[in-house]
Amino acid sequence: MTAKLINGRRLAEKLRGELRIRVRSIAKRRGRAPGLAVILVGEDAASAVYVRNKIRACEAVGIESTCIRFPSRVSNEELLQTIARLNADDAIDGILVQLPLPGHIDLPLVLETISIEKDVDGFHLYNVGGLVVGNTIFSPCTPYGVVKLLESENIAIAGQNVVVVGASNIVGKPMALMLMSRGATVSICHALTRDLAQFTILADILVVAAGVPNLILAPMVKAGAVVIDVGINRLPDGSIAGDVDFHGVSQRASHITPVPGGVGPMTVTMLLENTIASAERSSAQAFRDNGRIQPAPGLLEASGVNNA
Ligand code: NAD
Repeated sequence: MTAKLINGRRLAEKLRGELRIRVRSIAKRRGRAPGLAVILVGEDAASAVYVRNKIRACEAVGIESTCIRFPSRVSNEELLQTIARLNADDAIDGILVQLPLPGHIDLPLVLETISIEKDVDGFHLYNVGGLVVGNTIFSPCTPYGVVKLLESENIAIAGQNVVVVGASNIVGKPMALMLMSRGATVSICHALTRDLAQFTILADILVVAAGVPNLILAPMVKAGAVVIDVGINRLPDGSIAGDVDFHGVSQRASHITPVPGGVGPMTVTMLLENTIASAERSSAQAFRDNGRIQPAPGLLEASGVNNA
């Protein structure tokens, strides 16, 4: 079997075309485009690249973005005050703090200071908890992008055996919750899992987010499985690879995402989606508050509320 490639770059491009139209409509309705504020602390090269990509993606769809930079010695107070200011700023619909942060920063406090209405990364405790009970405001971008990829290929989730390799707060755990809420039977594996292959071989859908190149080899994959590779690893020769042995596993899987060009472009696209959904929600709220018009039927659904 040679797996069908799930092309994240192509889907991201298609979705961004739709997002551009929504941005234009918001800008027309309320006189300004959606706004995203990105906070970048320190000089981490990878973080700088991620932030640059996010800013460029915003520009490409018409979202107004602003990047606020701090040196790595920034105090907790200064960071929290900045977030509080952005929370109160009507021109800002989404706030993102690029991770990781320096060790002296109180990360949970930083994340919980972001208004839940502007938490477009979905890392606030409210949004994380919302994933458990099924009413999150914003889904975290990477798992949300994986769900969109599966949906775009009409891959059934309900009733499927899903194995998620990796149990981080930003990818593995929310991924598992989102797929479980769609009816999958989910197993989560992590660095302490004994005999990883005994789990992965059962997966109809295998999502891998461990950060270990070649962790998943062909004999660990069920014939016909759907394999989603979230990993991004820089190899000694400078190239980028995922966590899956792409060539070997392509011979067994029915569908597979490439790295690069799979999940990565979707992660950024879901950040744009969340920011636009936030702007649509606040614009609908403003109209309601002014008593001028009722929100269009289905507007909240279309804007991604309950998108977990
Ligand atoms: P993390 O380091 O926070 O978590 C890694 C998880 O993998 C942990 O739960 C750990 O226990 C598990 N793990 C590590 N080694 C393992 C092994 N040998 N067997 C089984 N489990 C193992 O990482 P993260 O932030 O969740 O990111 C995971 C990977 O996904 C990284 O490569 C990261 O660069 C990538 N990533 C990609 C995107 C994207 O948009 N494509 C977004 C976020 C993260």
